[in-house]
Amino acid sequence: MTTNRSVIVTGSTSGIGLGMATAFARQGLNVMLNGFGDAGEIEVVRSRLASENRVDVGYHGADMTKPEEIGALFRAAEDKFGAVDIVVNNAGIQFVAPIEEFPPEKWDAIIAINLSSAFHLIRHAIPGMKQRGWGRVINLCSAHGLVASPFKTAYVAAKHGIVGLTKTVALEVAQNGITVNAICPGYVLTPLVEKQIPDQAKSRGISEEAVKRDVLLGAQPTKQFVTTEQIGALAVFLCSDAAASITGAALPIDGGWTAQ
Ligand code: NAD
Repeated sequence: MTTNRSVIVTGSTSGIGLGMATAFARQGLNVMLNGFGDAGEIEVVRSRLASENRVDVGYHGADMTKPEEIGALFRAAEDKFGAVDIVVNNAGIQFVAPIEEFPPEKWDAIIAINLSSAFHLIRHAIPGMKQRGWGRVINLCSAHGLVASPFKTAYVAAKHGIVGLTKTVALEVAQNGITVNAICPGYVLTPLVEKQIPDQAKSRGISEEAVKRDVLLGAQPTKQFVTTEQIGALAVFLCSDAAASITGAALPIDGGWTAQ
């Protein structure tokens, strides 16, 4: 991967997105951060990533539920860096409840952020990638893009949808030097997972400790959480020339969860 490339990572103010943004900056890529959070804390992260790695790092606060703001995010990155070579669709939220209690507005929000936002950013990015004959699209999916768990209707539907989106776009751009892949992690101990532990405990009628041991790590044969560093390293590899023939794939990084 040449170091003067640039990447947008959505939802990169926290968790896996921040892990991938850090991994890309360490490789010398210019990075556009996105996501919610305290403005002061985001600025600390932005300036630290830039100074430690001597790369250009920007931030755009687009709400990924809003197609026009996604367009503005893309144009801001293109204006700042001259081109957007890599897009990583990572922003995501979770909500856990039985189907009959699942609030319709949570369904709509999860489909918008976890699925539709990827469609919108990809459609902006592909023309420039085609013109330059090189591009990488990485969609942060989940083991839940490959298998289901109860009480996560919207999330599982969105993640299965991301696999379909990944395969379809991969076929459309296969002869343009562009690869499109989905990374499917098992559980990573980020705020998204920490927040769902009390709800899982309530839905299942068990303790929070039991949710961690029996529900989260219960699904992962390694009995280890996946780390943001491991996902960052996989994302960097997918952007290398060695990975040019990996496209349309949904790659598990899940401690063996989906092998069962
Ligand atoms: P996280 O809660 O730590 O981070 C989510 C990021 O998305 C944050 O930066 C947040 O500000 C941003 N975000 C949320 N709503 C947004 C919106 N409307 N517009 C813009 N940004 C928004 O979560 P995470 O665990 O790092 O999850 C990142 C991705 O990885 C998600 O797509 C998630 O589904 C996926 N994933 C997570 C796990 C896990 O175990 N943590 C496992 C598999 C897949």
